[in-house]
Amino acid sequence: MPSAPSTASATGSLTSAESIRLVLDTVEARNPNEPEFLQAVHEVLESISPVLEAHPQFVDGGILERLVEPERQILFRVPWVDDAGRLQVNRGFRVQFSSVLGPYKGGLRFHPSVNLSIIKFLGFEQIFKNALTGQGIGGAKGGSDFDPHGRSNAEIMRFCQSFMNELYRHLGEHTDVPAGDIGVGAREIGYLFGQYRKVTNRHESGMFTGKGVQWGGAEVRTEATGYGAVFFVEEMLGVHGETLRNKRVGISGSGNVAIYAIDKARQLGATAVTASDSSGYVVDDAGIDVDLLRQIKEVERARISEYAARRPGARYVEGARPWEVPVDVAIPSATQNELDADDARALIANGLRAVAEGANMPTTPEAIELFQSAGVLFGPGKAANAGGVATSALEMSQNAARQRWSFDDSEAKLRAIMADVHAAAFQAAERYGRPGDYVVGANSAGFERVAHAMLAQGVI
Ligand code: GLU
Repeated sequence: MPSAPSTASATGSLTSAESIRLVLDTVEARNPNEPEFLQAVHEVLESISPVLEAHPQFVDGGILERLVEPERQILFRVPWVDDAGRLQVNRGFRVQFSSVLGPYKGGLRFHPSVNLSIIKFLGFEQIFKNALTGQGIGGAKGGSDFDPHGRSNAEIMRFCQSFMNELYRHLGEHTDVPAGDIGVGAREIGYLFGQYRKVTNRHESGMFTGKGVQWGGAEVRTEATGYGAVFFVEEMLGVHGETLRNKRVGISGSGNVAIYAIDKARQLGATAVTASDSSGYVVDDAGIDVDLLRQIKEVERARISEYAARRPGARYVEGARPWEVPVDVAIPSATQNELDADDARALIANGLRAVAEGANMPTTPEAIELFQSAGVLFGPGKAANAGGVATSALEMSQNAARQRWSFDDSEAKLRAIMADVHAAAFQAAERYGRPGDYVVGANSAGFERVAHAMLAQGVI
């Protein structure tokens, strides 16, 4: 009788539902203070029961038991000195979840909310997202509880250098390849890459993605997550003979994902009418002006309220989320759990047609349920925002081959990858008896690929 959380694998005598329950019980007992990680594990495991029924070897091989435990977790101290000469200490994280399909791959997030639960949920999701792209990349995530907001350029650089002084020994083009995420953009990637180069004495292009295009970065990587999410919407609508033309799109966030989702929506004939930050949102019925938004958020690093102050016809709403604005398509692109059941009800009442998650896990489980039962097309982040990491893999290919592809070529490749990701999720949903359910489809297709590779490579 196992009495404590155990490492014992489920056996072939268990049904798939029993085996999932056992693994969930163990994960809950072992990680009681990690709500986001548990949410992500529940979402995946609860949707893949039909895959386990069709593949009893996955149960016998203890695939779930192994997958929920990261291959390696690195926690470290990041000491640095601020501009006033005061010592600061932050926490650094890198959770290397799975390298079965390729080197660990996933972004770094610098945000005060970062803790082990957040990094583990992101790393866990990354395994399946990366598998779904069809490329050779494993799953990882990292970051720090460092708050870049209000920090000087020199402070950001010193922090990045201290962070890399520890992390470098765990990275490498064949080992672990980070990229950006919230709070880590072109500037931070430059400082992190520079410090890696200094301490290793290696200019190893393929050890980081999201680099500047002048020094090994790939065209379209900056735009890829936002563009990809909009391409994914086009794919979902296309199944029903619809397009984005003349649709109103609601977008949250004002970072890299939101900015380029707004841009691509406009290029495809839609009007993106909202953007937000943690203090509130702006609504602009004429369509968000991407150049103005970029100037305010990327150059001046100011608040979103500035947008309404400078743009005639735009309105700023303090302390609220953009989901009260009537739209046909919603692309939540800010952060986890930013769209809840009340938001979903408001969007549905206003005639919403489709949702694509630009951020990771922005929709709560209750909100997903509401969308799906109302017949709203719902593209989960593992599929809808896979364009970013997929283009990171294109950057790795270019680095390995010492090549540079043009913007148009790279965008065409991204578009084809998003069509493939959509097809893989769509077909898996049909195969497992849940047509149109992209949550089941994305999780099943990603999981199948990872599970087959794990079985082939033995008990590791
Ligand atoms: N942070 C992004 C994501 O959530 C990109 C990761 C990468 O390019 O490695 O997928």
